[in-house]
Amino acid sequence: MKETTKEQRTRARMMPGAITLSGFLGKDKRTLNAIISADEQELEKLGKTAEELADRMFYFTDASFSTYDGTITVDEYYIVETEVTRGKLPCPYAHGGIFRKAITKLTNTKNNTSVTWSFLNIHLIKDHHFFEGKGSTFRLEPAKLVETLY
Ligand SMILES: [Zn+2]
Repeated sequence: MKETTKEQRTRARMMPGAITLSGFLGKDKRTLNAIISADEQELEKLGKTAEELADRMFYFTDASFSTYDGTITVDEYYIVETEVTRGKLPCPYAHGGIFRKAITKLTNTKNNTSVTWSFLNIHLIKDHHFFEGKGSTFRLEPAKLVETLY
């Protein structure tokens, strides 16, 4: 499917140096639609929706947001740390959404898996079903995410 002008503009904002230094696409050459629909199919196999994952991510980020130093344990099995830095980032879809710069690291002690996401990732997953391109710094593999979040 050919990209629309709107998609091309969004893609341009996702390139390295536009909104973030490393960008959102990594080495992925697929169109945004192709990236998103592949991940949606993956989610279907996993039996989860993007909204469910994003809500769960927000739950952990929110729980650890005000612990400025160190980690907290949530619900017995999850070790969470959120590092908040100065500044804000706009959503590359350019609808006016602005997000704080915060990085959350979650470790699931039941299966010893860890995953790291940014505050913007939560929004991108929830509202755009976008897990970032393959090879991107903050690319989140749906299967890995499910394994660690539950
Ligand atoms: Zn957005």
